[in-house]
Amino acid sequence: MRRKTRQIFLGDLAIGGGAPISIQSMTNTDTKNVEKTVEQILKLEEAGCDLIRFAVNTKEDALAIPKIKDKIHIPTIADIQFNHQLALYALENGIDGLRINPGNIGESWKVKEVVKLAKAQSVPIRIGVNSGSVHQKYIDKFHGVNVDSLCYSALDEVKVLEDMGFYNIKVSIKSSDVSVNIEANRKFSALCDCPLHLGVTEAGNMDQGLIKSAVGIGSLLHDGIGDTIRISLTDDPVKEVEAAKILLRTLGLRREGVEIVSCPTCARTTIDLISLVNKAKDRLAKEKRPLKIAIMGCPVNGPGESREADYGISGAGGKGYIFKKGEILKIVEEDQLLDALMEQIDRDEE
Ligand code: SF4
Repeated sequence: MRRKTRQIFLGDLAIGGGAPISIQSMTNTDTKNVEKTVEQILKLEEAGCDLIRFAVNTKEDALAIPKIKDKIHIPTIADIQFNHQLALYALENGIDGLRINPGNIGESWKVKEVVKLAKAQSVPIRIGVNSGSVHQKYIDKFHGVNVDSLCYSALDEVKVLEDMGFYNIKVSIKSSDVSVNIEANRKFSALCDCPLHLGVTEAGNMDQGLIKSAVGIGSLLHDGIGDTIRISLTDDPVKEVEAAKILLRTLGLRREGVEIVSCPTCARTTIDLISLVNKAKDRLAKEKRPLKIAIMGCPVNGPGESREADYGISGAGGKGYIFKKGEILKIVEEDQLLDALMEQIDRDEE
């Protein structure tokens, strides 16, 4: 069961309160380079990104917001580090959400100015707490950066905004230590109903980052915790979105798109299964229907797996069977297997 959180809106997108879990990514272009930033966001949208964050480091970045928003279709979040004036510029230029850390903004009058304008514009604020922004008083109290100091720092930040009458809040608590990440979010979610954005910070490149994020984010999602997610990778952000979709589908939290079930190959494999699966993945990448496709190397497990899938292929000595819901439709040469499968899928859509 998913944990019930208060609902907020980023543009038209509902977050929390039972809304579907949203996938977020972050651009790595120079924000004020509108052409490049828009190009990247459109690619991310196509991959399935629901909301996009970009750094606002200068006034020029903030002035680019309306030009970017004009050409994209998903809500935008401005990532502000220390300068409250940039948060104000971002709000004045129509940003849909702010990501700030009140502790980094400094004096309370500056935070108040940002909160006042965000409230007037109904723009939510995401408070981000990570290992680098834990409050010193909690580091002292809990003897370092750990589950408690992360959690209580986040609760303090929420209180700062709520004391100003601002409740339109999302929170993220991130640690590059996966266990700390999981426990700090569990603890926070038991104490506060703010929607949570999940991520494992500095997760690393594809290999390491995918596993760390699958464990760190996946464990929490499995507990029913989390309203938006970002899989951070030192790679093309499109891969973050693709991985996030797979994670949500794996946990039954999103149905859209194709799940390919394929065997690990063994001495019984009678076709070039690895290349077939990779090609199938590419050709089905844009398919929106919730399809399960089993691609197996031999007839031992092929028919069985195909019964559980919408479509299936199983190799059989340089040829292969095409299945639909466990029924054999035809047998074709190995080099025609993928075309035959795609033809069948396309025909069934008509
Ligand atoms: S499905 Fe066949 S080829 Fe694939 S691992 Fe199992 S026995 Fe081997």
